[in-house]
Amino acid sequence: MRVLVLNCGSSSVKFAVIDTATHEAISSGLVENIGVNGHIKAKGPTSKIDTMVDAPTHVEAIAAMQDFLKTENLVDSIEAIGHRVVHGGKYITSAPVTREVIDYIKSITLFAPLHEPAHAMGMEVAKKYFPTLPQVAVFDTAFHQTMPRKAFLYGIPYKYYEDLQIRRYGFHGTSHRYVSAEAARLLGKKPEDLNCITAHLGNGSSAAAIRGGKCVDTTMGFTPLDGLVMGTRSGSLDPAILFFLNKKLGFDIDRLDKLVNKESGLLGLSGLSNDMRTLTQAASEGHEGAKIALEVFCYKLAREIGGITMALPTLDALIFTGGIGENSRIVRETTLESLSILGFKMDKARNEKNGKESGGIISREGSTPIAMVIATNEELLIALDTEELVK
Ligand code: AMP
Repeated sequence: MRVLVLNCGSSSVKFAVIDTATHEAISSGLVENIGVNGHIKAKGPTSKIDTMVDAPTHVEAIAAMQDFLKTENLVDSIEAIGHRVVHGGKYITSAPVTREVIDYIKSITLFAPLHEPAHAMGMEVAKKYFPTLPQVAVFDTAFHQTMPRKAFLYGIPYKYYEDLQIRRYGFHGTSHRYVSAEAARLLGKKPEDLNCITAHLGNGSSAAAIRGGKCVDTTMGFTPLDGLVMGTRSGSLDPAILFFLNKKLGFDIDRLDKLVNKESGLLGLSGLSNDMRTLTQAASEGHEGAKIALEVFCYKLAREIGGITMALPTLDALIFTGGIGENSRIVRETTLESLSILGFKMDKARNEKNGKESGGIISREGSTPIAMVIATNEELLIALDTEELVK
């Protein structure tokens, strides 16, 4: 089946046409800067475009994407649409898009203010341009809904969970689900027989503890700000730091929000960049800020992995994924060194090649737990879920 996978953000629409039989992306692209200076970049089997487009809203953006797919003669072959949704609230699995689903997504806007309205709008606009196609919503939080109460509750009065649903939700669920299933496949095990930690490390980063295919704990929380140090996000903080900054420097809620979401993480620690490639290069040239950022990033990662490992009966494997996890040899090496207490033994040559010539494995032959690198493929999983629900 050919599935159009849509990821509608506040000012962008990313898309891919996935063939679920071959697992290949036949076409992919993105319309960005919606509402400002619209721009479309896309490739298909026969052509590429990279041009300005008049897209004051998501309506024109999706129309521009459809025009491109028409020039590539792909529109008639698409049989369903799968939407990536950042926050699924109560949803524990993917779901067919209905009026009720769209209204629910709108109702939880406060949980992800930039994303949820864009997702709901994307579903409504997709219905207009592809009226006959079934649509499916695939939620980033759904995979984490198997966490037990002791993992998802915060230590604040219980009534805030009951009245306002304040709890750990977890994000990147589609990626954690995909790479943990891939790890089981590559290791020749059934997902039920694998206990692993997945570390999705990109601009946003999170780790998850997965017991027999089911998530039992994760590092992101009520929002994607919790947990690991990220590109510009602080990760976990002592909340009293915010009270202190308010009292000492007069920072109000908006200023604090900007500080922890946009000015912190690798960028804030290094004073240089949020990009791991830039930081690795700068650190090798002696840049002190870049060295500090790398050190804190890897230490906190190891510390959080150590913490959620406690949710597992045994640890069979640790899987690195995302832009940093898949490519940064130094991050993997430093993190695995910190985790040697768990028994990890890295193979330098395998790590150097990002596990490409050793079935993803970067730990030494025969050592346990196994450390692996697996490229994530969220679009593919969204397409496969969509196919399953549509069928
Ligand atoms: P993502 O959000 O998954 O696209 O990941 C983005 C992050 O991956 C950025 O910090 C990039 O610097 C990092 N990244 C991509 N390629 C490499 C590489 N070859 N080495 C180190 N970091 C990389």
